[in-house]
Amino acid sequence: MANDKSKVLIVGGGFGGLFTALELGGVGDVTLVNDEDHFLFKPMLYEYLSGEVQAWHVAPDCKELLDRQATFVRGLAESIDLEAHSVRLAGGRILSYDILVFSPGAITNYAGVEGAEQFSLPFRTLNDANHLRRRMTEVLDRIPPDAAPQDTREALTFVVVGGGASGVELSTKMADLLRDAVKRRALRGEPRVVIVEMADRLVPGMGEEIRKFVDGALEETRVEVHTNTRVARLGANSITLAHNDRQTEMTTSGVVWVAGVRPSPLLDTLKIERDRRGLILVEPTLQLRGRAEVFALGDIAFYPDVVPTLAGTAQLAFQQSHLCAQNVRAFIEGRELKSKHFAELGEAVSLGTEHAAVLTGGKVIGGPLARQARFALYTARLPTWHHRLRVGASWFFEGTSPRPLQPLGF
Ligand SMILES: Cc1cc2nc3c(=O)[nH]c(=O)nc-3n(C[C@H](O)[C@H](O)[C@H](O)COP(=O)(O)OP(=O)(O)OC[C@H]3O[C@@H](n4cnc5c(N)ncnc54)[C@H](O)[C@@H]3O)c2cc1C
Repeated sequence: MANDKSKVLIVGGGFGGLFTALELGGVGDVTLVNDEDHFLFKPMLYEYLSGEVQAWHVAPDCKELLDRQATFVRGLAESIDLEAHSVRLAGGRILSYDILVFSPGAITNYAGVEGAEQFSLPFRTLNDANHLRRRMTEVLDRIPPDAAPQDTREALTFVVVGGGASGVELSTKMADLLRDAVKRRALRGEPRVVIVEMADRLVPGMGEEIRKFVDGALEETRVEVHTNTRVARLGANSITLAHNDRQTEMTTSGVVWVAGVRPSPLLDTLKIERDRRGLILVEPTLQLRGRAEVFALGDIAFYPDVVPTLAGTAQLAFQQSHLCAQNVRAFIEGRELKSKHFAELGEAVSLGTEHAAVLTGGKVIGGPLARQARFALYTARLPTWHHRLRVGASWFFEGTSPRPLQPLGF
């Protein structure tokens, strides 16, 4: 049994880690380590890209959120010593723990595709979104006002690799943003946004009803869909696609890679049981097998009792954080630990800058109303009441219109 002065060290300030820290509400001596100074509500990174929301809405400061409930340490955890109960940060600082909560999330998986890591843009952080927005603006700025329509189209060819929800949300957002910029700058022609997916359909885990809105949005935003297509390689300004044993090279101004994730490389410093995707096998209590004082959750953990479509989602990490906090508390107080069945909380996809589709309570709605519903739904999921109220008020009074891709220097 631990005690109420137990040192609880949480590695990772995302959906799993931050919400566990908040939920613990001062039980134990809690320290949260995160490599960024902010939490990121990743499901709204698309709206951050389009300027519908601002950084402070979706990426609030960890210290402010935690207030006095936990000590915040900004640092990159480099290795974990399970025997010595310590975590080593970049720069050499060592933090010791009685209880470790481990939730460093996932990173982009380039699956060994030639040139992918070097030449594509990832889309997981505020900085990634800033880079992509800047790239789109720079390309627009280079198009002469009298460019022929086909030259505009060629210059504005962007490819999104990965046809999951991320690929759909990102490509429709980019297509709307670029089309709006073309119109504002009175350019002739159209942007070309392409989505590439290896499987025979996009968003395979999504229900048929919500899929109708997805298909409609892809058509309306004129996103070009290439299914059954593999990326053979990437160059500085090109992508080679393989379809039916034929390879085609396409010139692009940017490729965004959202085709998959793999667990944080921090896991490689641990000698523990992992499944074939590299996920940590946890007990139904979220404890590491054979290590009662270590809890793992979110994108790095394989939890047995979960519907497959929930794997690797914020929904799951968020639900697990409640169980994790409850069990850390029980562990400290010497009570029995619990397990839980996690269920789908609904689905909400952003579709361009004006539309969305939301599945909630068994019903699907689409269009501008669904976009509002998505904002409302996500306001309720943001961390802390205080932050929710500030963001809700800001969205209500100041609006959530996209910020156009203005020429740089404006
Ligand atoms: C663009 C995008 C959109 C998404 N949209 C949705 C959606 O609509 N619905 C949904 O359910 N899921 C969505 N997801 C997935 C969801 O965000 C993740 O499943 C969820 O964030 C997992 O929570 P986590 O706590 O495991 O990891 P994260 O939330 O990623 O948190 C991990 C934290 O640990 C930090 N960290 C990593 N390594 C270290 C280290 N070595 N040292 C210190 N800190 C470290 C990271 O910076 C991060 O703050 C989306 C993901 C992305 C990228």
